[in-house]
Amino acid sequence: MDNKLMLMIPGPTPVPEKVLLAMAKHPIGHRSGEFSKVIAELTENLQWLHQTKNDVLMLTASGTGAMEAAIINFLSPGDRVLVGNNGKFGERWAKLAKAFGVAVEEITAEWGKPLSVEDFRSKLQADSEKTIKAVIITHSETSTGVLNDLEGINKAVKEHGEALIIVDAVTSLGACNVPVDQWELDVVASGSQKGYMIPPGLGFVAVGPKAWQAYKSAKIPRFYLDLGKYKKATDENSSPFTPPINLMYGLQAALQMQKEEGLEAIFKRHEKATAATRAAIKALSLPLFAPDDAASPAITAVAPISVDAEKVRSVMKKRFDIVLAGGQDHLKGKIFRMGHLGFVSPRDILAAIASLEATLIELGNTQVTPGQAVAAAAQILIQ
Ligand SMILES: *Cc1c(COP(=O)(O)O)cnc(C)c1O
Repeated sequence: MDNKLMLMIPGPTPVPEKVLLAMAKHPIGHRSGEFSKVIAELTENLQWLHQTKNDVLMLTASGTGAMEAAIINFLSPGDRVLVGNNGKFGERWAKLAKAFGVAVEEITAEWGKPLSVEDFRSKLQADSEKTIKAVIITHSETSTGVLNDLEGINKAVKEHGEALIIVDAVTSLGACNVPVDQWELDVVASGSQKGYMIPPGLGFVAVGPKAWQAYKSAKIPRFYLDLGKYKKATDENSSPFTPPINLMYGLQAALQMQKEEGLEAIFKRHEKATAATRAAIKALSLPLFAPDDAASPAITAVAPISVDAEKVRSVMKKRFDIVLAGGQDHLKGKIFRMGHLGFVSPRDILAAIASLEATLIELGNTQVTPGQAVAAAAQILIQ
């Protein structure tokens, strides 16, 4: 059926009607006084979302553009960095840093398992010469549904004392607690089509004082993504280049919605969506790809053993207009991923779970009794 599509992928995520309508306006001049007010409000509300007094800069780019800015502004070719790699996005950090000549040492974990805090701590403790310039990790690893222990790894970074912590918070910001000031996170990258509830096109980078120190001596060439330009402009409620004005109207509405809901309530909603989804998958006796104590608040990955994951996705789409994500690389066909990030309500979770039950039955799974997973999810959602 037309117009009933339900996106349950980890980005782009569903966009509230209020946000869509906010974008349906003529653009105004980005150097106008009127638009300055919009930038001032956005900056203040972005700081609220990041729980920080640091700069939060807006870039016309997808999340990867924000990641690139997070590397090239604070590092130099040959700098030694530790990169956490336990999935597609950790791998992207490593590739990106290497592309600019940074000396990457990868700390890996099997896909589906969280990074080990001890692995980071032992490398950092052994670095008595303080040659490690940065520790770079993905908080919520979207490709596997694993939430890495950012707080724990960051503690080891703080014990080291010199290294910066650079974080991809693309699918954790606006879903679970990422207190930038309290944890003293130096650089935090995110993108608009995830927890922000707006379409793709904006990248965000939060930059703390220690990172700005590093900026002064960083030698990787930069121009469009030179964050100094963005800071200078943002301090004057302006932008260095033409920003995506209509997307920013959308962001204005989305941040207002988020503020009305409140951070605690937003985190709680994602926690419940995650718990309900996981309870439902367990009720179906399907293996969850990520362990309970490292579950992403944004996405749940499922390995459906007896059925092809791509068939599950195909039936979900054809019969129920629900779009799930597949596995990436070697996980293609082996897992499907259900996004529950951003503008997602308990009703969406129940609809998706009920549809999944029906899909498994259609695919010949005789173990499934209609309602068993829905009951498990509902029990959590009504608490
Ligand atoms: C979506 C995502 C990104 C950014 O991807 P883009 O396609 O460049 O927006 C980065 N990291 C993670 C963990 C993501 O989920």
